[in-house]
Amino acid sequence: MTTITPLIAGNWKMNGLKQSLSEISELAQLLTTGEAPRALVCICPPATLLHAVAEQGASSGILAGGQDCHTANAGAHTGDISVSMLADAGAQYVIVGHSERRADHGESDDMVRAKAEAAIGAGLKPIVCVGESEAQRDAGQAVSVVAAQLAASLPDAAGQHSVVVAYEPIWAIGTGRTPNSADIAEIHDAIRAQLVERFGETGATIQILYGGSLKPQNAREILAIENVNGGLVGGASLLAKDFYTIISAV
Ligand code: PEP
Repeated sequence: MTTITPLIAGNWKMNGLKQSLSEISELAQLLTTGEAPRALVCICPPATLLHAVAEQGASSGILAGGQDCHTANAGAHTGDISVSMLADAGAQYVIVGHSERRADHGESDDMVRAKAEAAIGAGLKPIVCVGESEAQRDAGQAVSVVAAQLAASLPDAAGQHSVVVAYEPIWAIGTGRTPNSADIAEIHDAIRAQLVERFGETGATIQILYGGSLKPQNAREILAIENVNGGLVGGASLLAKDFYTIISAV
C-alpha cells in the first residue's frame, strides 16, 4: 500500500495584517514543543505576508504557499502575482482554482489548468481545488461534477510532478456544514480512482485534501477517512491553537 504523508494547509484568504504573524510564532512554538506533527504543515497567507510567513515558519517546518497565481511569469498584469514571485518570496505551494476565485473572477477549468502548469514550471506544488455547489449535490451530480472539473483542471504534468488535489464542496466552505463521512469518502475514492486511471502509480501517491468547515471538532473523524490525505482549512487556520488541534488530529 502506498504511504502518503498528509498535508494540512491553511488558507488565510483576505485576512491577516502584520500583527497576525504572532499566530505563526505561536504555531511554530506549538509544533516544536508538542508531539512531532504527522503531517506537512503549510500556511497560505495573503501575498503581503508571504515572505514573512516563509521566513518565520522555516525553522519550525511551516511551509508557505500563495493563494493564486497568474499564468504568465511577468508582464503587464496589474494586481496579479506570478509563480516566480511566489517562489522568490519563499512559497512552496500555491492554491489554484479555489471556488471563490472561480466565482469572483470567473476562472474556468482551462485557466486553472494553465495556472497549475505555470506553478509546476516554477517548481511550486499547485493545490488544485474542485468541488460541487449545493444545487449540484442535491441533483445527485456531485461525483460527475467533481470528475469533470478534475479532468479539465489538472495538467498532464501532474503525472511527473508534485501536485495536490483539494476537494472542497462549495456549500461547506465557511458555513459550518460538512458532508457526512460516507459522502466525503465517496468523492475521495472517486478522485483517487480517476487519478490512478490517468496517472498510474503516481496517481496513487497524490495527496487529496478535504476542505470546507474543517474544524477542531470534526477533524479527527474527517481526517481518518480513507483517501483523505489532509485538509485545506480556511477559518480555523487563522488561530494557531485551532489549526494546531487540526494538525494534531492527523
Ligand atoms: C477554504 O475556503 O478553503 C475553506 C476550506 O474554508 P473554511 O475552512 O472556512 O470552510
